[in-house]
Amino acid sequence: MIKFYNTLSRQLEDFKPIDKTQVRLYTCGPTVYNFAHIGNLRTYIFEDLLRRVLEYNGYQVKHVMNVTDVGHLVGDGDEGEDKIDVGARREGKSPLEIAKFYEQRFFSDLKDLNIEMPGKVVRATEAIPSQIEIIKILEQKGYTYRDESAIYFDTSKLPDYGKLSGQKLSDKQTGARGDVVVDLKKKNPADFALWFFLAGRYKNHILHWPSPWGEGFPGWHIECSAISRQELGQPFDIHTGGEDHIGTHHPNEMAQSEAAFGVPLANLWMHGRFLQINDNKMAKSAGTFITLNDVKDKGFSPLDYRYLCLTAHYRSQLNFTWEGMLFAHNTSEKLFDFIRDVKPGKEGAAEYEKEFLEAINDDLNIPQALAVVWKLVDDNKIAKEIKIASILKFDKVLGFNLDNPPKETSPTEEASALLGQRQQARDAKDFAKSDELRKRIEELGYEVMDTAEGQKVKKKINI
Ligand SMILES: [Zn+2]
Repeated sequence: MIKFYNTLSRQLEDFKPIDKTQVRLYTCGPTVYNFAHIGNLRTYIFEDLLRRVLEYNGYQVKHVMNVTDVGHLVGDGDEGEDKIDVGARREGKSPLEIAKFYEQRFFSDLKDLNIEMPGKVVRATEAIPSQIEIIKILEQKGYTYRDESAIYFDTSKLPDYGKLSGQKLSDKQTGARGDVVVDLKKKNPADFALWFFLAGRYKNHILHWPSPWGEGFPGWHIECSAISRQELGQPFDIHTGGEDHIGTHHPNEMAQSEAAFGVPLANLWMHGRFLQINDNKMAKSAGTFITLNDVKDKGFSPLDYRYLCLTAHYRSQLNFTWEGMLFAHNTSEKLFDFIRDVKPGKEGAAEYEKEFLEAINDDLNIPQALAVVWKLVDDNKIAKEIKIASILKFDKVLGFNLDNPPKETSPTEEASALLGQRQQARDAKDFAKSDELRKRIEELGYEVMDTAEGQKVKKKINI
């Protein structure tokens, strides 16, 4: 039996999908106005592990993700401008160009991290009619009101609003950020926009559509209610996101969908914790906005970052440091070295496979699953072929591409010549010379390792 922690019930629950063989999974996707930072990407790695664990257990997973290309304002509580417009102005491009560019970059990050693509991706701008449809139902049922700038959802009409976070309505405040413009006339601070009109500060909003209420564009939350229902039905099994969605975005999705249709939106709500950088929140101003490109520029593989993420449970905070990255890099190299050039046996190590399954089914305890892998590597009583058969099986969840390990580094001609000289020095037991040559090889960007099969090199990473 798989157990998952449900943010909504605040406890571990036995997982029982609505359909016996298929799991319907919805993931809140990116707002494509800038590069994703590695903290955002940690959430997608968690969701990838979730999906892989379900598949490992034999389920077919119907996985849908949205891409927000309109309507997500700078503040989650309807303050400020549309993020895509901000990006468009920053770069002198159109909103659609911005959205397209950053969407491509996002998917290339996912590919680099060996994250499986959702079965279906729907952009907010592609689902305008189904968003309008839900707003119409909410209006008919009396859950909305309007002013000159937008149609709002009246949260006071829904007694259990905020049940996901346990927050009281009175705790909600707007305009907490000093740098955003707030000109809303909401009845309750938690109320949120369903549809913005081309008026006031949105008079010149570039993307807009006709609606029963006039030209305008949707609020951020309604797209997920519309896309998930359209693609997965309601209720579906699992709704995921980052912990930043617990306070506003997910309660608002739930409120819209449940008020409109009278049934839960999803049965299980799972959230990944944030990444911290040097024990602080990631922030552009502090220079701690790190992207996957920054990781690659230092000479790391994106899969080193994947390894780092797998060392922490998804509900624990993970503190990112470059030293931690180096550790993850060296550890995953060891795994590649262990597996390289050895053919797997037909059978794996059954007792380890059982332990691995128990770990992943215990609310995705991947750090424990990794510990099982290393225990197996170190078990002298088991033949290497058997170990490798199991580890390759485990990799269906871990996603390190172990069946296709990167080739060993081959040194340049100059470095090869120095390695040859160093071998001679070592054969002659001239260790002073050997050390001097090691330094010269390091200056060329390699690290030298003396192994049973002789000298080996790998690219040196300077953090
Ligand atoms: Zn969403």
